[in-house]
Amino acid sequence: MISRNATFYTFDALSDLSAEIGIIGGGPAGAHLASRLAASGREVIIFDPKGAWEKPCGGGVPTRAIREFGFLLEASSYPNKLVRRVTIISPLERRVTIQLERPFAIYSREVLNSLILDRAVEAGAEFVRNAVVDFAREGSGWKLTADDGRPFRIRFLVGADGAASFTRRRLIGIFPKQDLALAFGYNVNEPIGSNGHAEEVIVRFPRDFTGYLWAFPRVGVMNFGVASKLGERTSDELRRLLGGFVQDYYGGRPPDAARMSFFGAKIPTLDVRSWPGLKASGEGWALVGDAAGFADPITGEGIYYALKSADLCADALLGNGHLGCGRGHETAGMSHLDEPPSDSPQYSEATARYEHLWRDSFGRDLEHASYRLPRFYRGTFFGHIFTDAMVALARHHRGVRTILERALMGEQSYLTLKRDLIRRAFQFF
Ligand SMILES: Cc1cc2nc3c(=O)[nH]c(=O)nc-3n(C[C@H](O)[C@H](O)[C@H](O)COP(=O)(O)OP(=O)(O)OC[C@H]3O[C@@H](n4cnc5c(N)ncnc54)[C@H](O)[C@@H]3O)c2cc1C
Repeated sequence: MISRNATFYTFDALSDLSAEIGIIGGGPAGAHLASRLAASGREVIIFDPKGAWEKPCGGGVPTRAIREFGFLLEASSYPNKLVRRVTIISPLERRVTIQLERPFAIYSREVLNSLILDRAVEAGAEFVRNAVVDFAREGSGWKLTADDGRPFRIRFLVGADGAASFTRRRLIGIFPKQDLALAFGYNVNEPIGSNGHAEEVIVRFPRDFTGYLWAFPRVGVMNFGVASKLGERTSDELRRLLGGFVQDYYGGRPPDAARMSFFGAKIPTLDVRSWPGLKASGEGWALVGDAAGFADPITGEGIYYALKSADLCADALLGNGHLGCGRGHETAGMSHLDEPPSDSPQYSEATARYEHLWRDSFGRDLEHASYRLPRFYRGTFFGHIFTDAMVALARHHRGVRTILERALMGEQSYLTLKRDLIRRAFQFF
């Protein structure tokens, strides 16, 4: 794609300028950002070698995400399963079932990714089904090289390429081991009507374990997984734990191997010491979603943060940042003559605004979740294992169930979780 007014650019290589903004990665973060920017008239190009694909994931989209990103449920031709019933099993085998007032959605990741990517293309973003294998500064912008050797020239670069982000590695370095969790899972094809539990999510907290197991019903598929802090357990131990969980789910007999597909991947779950210095942007570039480290360190949930960080990055680039330095909506129809070079003050303002926006919106809460992580999985509550006490209290106490319900819907702040639990628990006595 050659932009409409390419001949007017004061760019080093006028003839092959490809777009104003180049996004590496077409998952939820990259595709949603592209959609927002393209809908405001900005020229955007997204690169992803896989397009919409079955990324290793539970596919659970919390209530808060479907409330804030209404387009998810409006797109009725992209099937999902709405779930209102969650059973939690404690390390001491106590169980509680929580009924959610408002459901969350579980998607096949191929379906969810195609919903968001299709929207971006409909909004006018250019999609290139290639990996970016190299990028370098060129003049006041960037030159990107695709895996088929084609060069692309852009002014502003966004890394939305996931937890193993190549963009991040080249710009600021990979996540250290303490900032990652390891997750494995199985997708098990379910013939329709064959599974009695298929409307219910199950979450199990194993003993002495910084993480959890899950069973998520999707349309026609059961998704099982286990996630734990990287390095705490070996891959073999995690796979054994997962295998036992799947077998228990099916009443002691593993499902037919032909119905099962295995997956594994890392999730950013930042250590509490990593948050204060965390940078999601620099001169002429920004990172969104997993590439930036934006996932809940306790649950590993990252789809909401992928969409939210994309939204905030779009707000910052479009000048809608509510920090008193925005340029308002006038950028929506901006002429290419006005588009800034990557080192311009306008992009510098936008990246500074983005840093403020993500930290204010969710950064502090996620930082607090990192602080809570060891206490949540391995701490105690009045002398009992915390997760076991939480389940025990929830069984008998509606107030505690409400806190858990809010947490499951993604609407309970970690900053107030312990205080709220204590308050509700003491209302009981
Ligand atoms: C096992 C597992 C279970 C999970 N379950 C949940 C869950 O239930 N709910 C939840 O909210 N979160 C869950 N997560 C986290 C969630 O998957 C991520 O947080 C989310 O996908 C992040 O979106 P993203 O767009 O930032 O990155 P991704 O979805 O990882 O997308 C990155 C994209 O970049 C592309 N890419 C990579 N390199 C390049 C390159 N060089 N050039 C071009 N493109 C490139 C990839 O093909 C990919 O499509 C889970 C994660 C794992 C591993």
